[in-house]
Amino acid sequence: MRDVASLDFKAQLQRDGVPSPAAGIDMDLVRDCIHCGLCLPKCPTFRSLHHEGDSPRGRMWQIKEATLGLVAFDDPRFQAHVYQCLNCRACETACPSGVQFGTVMEMARAKTPPQNRRDRMVRTVLLNGLLPHPGRLRLVGWLYRATRTVRLPALLRRSGAWKILPLGKFAAFPPVGDARPRRAALPGLTPAQATRRARVGLLTGCIQDEMFRGTNRRTALALARNGCDVIVPAARVCCGALASHAGEAKTAEHLAGLTMDAFAEQGLDAVVVNAAGCGSNMKEYEVQLRNDAGRREAAPGFSRTVKDASEFLISLGLRPPARPIRLKVAYQDPCHLVHGQKVYQQPRQVLAMIPGIELVEMKESDWCCGSAGVYNLTQPEISEEALGWKVRNIIDSGAQVIASANPGCILQVGMGLQRAGHDIPVVHVMDLLGWAYGDDEQRPPIVRRAMA
Ligand code: SF4
Ligand code: SF4
Repeated sequence: MRDVASLDFKAQLQRDGVPSPAAGIDMDLVRDCIHCGLCLPKCPTFRSLHHEGDSPRGRMWQIKEATLGLVAFDDPRFQAHVYQCLNCRACETACPSGVQFGTVMEMARAKTPPQNRRDRMVRTVLLNGLLPHPGRLRLVGWLYRATRTVRLPALLRRSGAWKILPLGKFAAFPPVGDARPRRAALPGLTPAQATRRARVGLLTGCIQDEMFRGTNRRTALALARNGCDVIVPAARVCCGALASHAGEAKTAEHLAGLTMDAFAEQGLDAVVVNAAGCGSNMKEYEVQLRNDAGRREAAPGFSRTVKDASEFLISLGLRPPARPIRLKVAYQDPCHLVHGQKVYQQPRQVLAMIPGIELVEMKESDWCCGSAGVYNLTQPEISEEALGWKVRNIIDSGAQVIASANPGCILQVGMGLQRAGHDIPVVHVMDLLGWAYGDDEQRPPIVRRAMA
């Protein structure tokens, strides 16, 4: 096995000439990195691990070497640096050279075998065994709702059993804002409740649809109140975001194709997405579907119609809701919204238009909370450290409620706050907007009191 640090790249080039790049990785994208290092202060894993190999610059260098065949993709040190990356894309925002780090990382992961047994299990069970199969997802969703009905989370907390069970921390500290998830899925059409301004599709998602149905319903309500006919396709599919971020390219491509097909020929002005990771992925279907001869032409056009819910409502001209929510609210930027989609202002603008809300900024709101797709399952130690920073910054902000825009962040930050003994609900921006428009279901007690 070659040592990454000891490679004499120049000598190798002189001896062997320029090697052919490995198929599947776009060398033009890799070469965009000029190794300036301006991204390093923004990288959570560099802050945590203090190692150049765990910085964006170090990773780009190693990916270049692997692509040129100078280090093996299954070199354990290479694997570690690749899979210890949160793929949060904070380096993209910091980069003056326009490096598309997320795309390069996903291409590299597609060629890099999983690092450990836990990672292999997550891929087999969750990414390939559950998310692509709507029937199995429905069963798991039913079980999730059943555990909440019989108050299993409280039992796990009281007994301390959550500490030893797989996924125990998530089962014991479920999202506060969705205490009684509704069973009914959204109808195929939610008609506009004001002068019709647009016809939009809504991605209800996989995990989002099973665990955050209330949020989906409130997103549809907000769109309808703003004059949109809201179409939910009969085929409810996973968009492939978790698979693509983990480098499960085949599964990601398959799910991207199904998602595009589900929204095709519906005469839509936009496809609205309320999960940041999904929106980011769907805006990049051109990359996901580059090997799909039947769909790659249409993919860029489809991606242009994809909009985050706040992004779409603000561009449409959001009608302010009438009911006040008198609370101090801080917004936690999901990485795939702020760095992946460059959507920063719009969720804050939505919150600022809700009467009564005092918007406060927390320190490092755009730093990853450690959720990062399946990262909190595959790299729990680094994930916990990132979550610890996030919880401290939230407490320091003095916020009474945290708003975010991604199910993974809501689960992760909510779990972290509850486990640390802080009764601060974490909800979706669309939850607060929906409650302010008149929906009364699933409000956490502090929101209910603030609206009384
Ligand atoms: S994606 Fe995030 S964790 Fe990975 S290198 Fe970039 S800033 Fe660091
Ligand atoms: S990713 Fe961008 S900011 Fe980071 S070293 Fe490369 S060129 Fe510089």
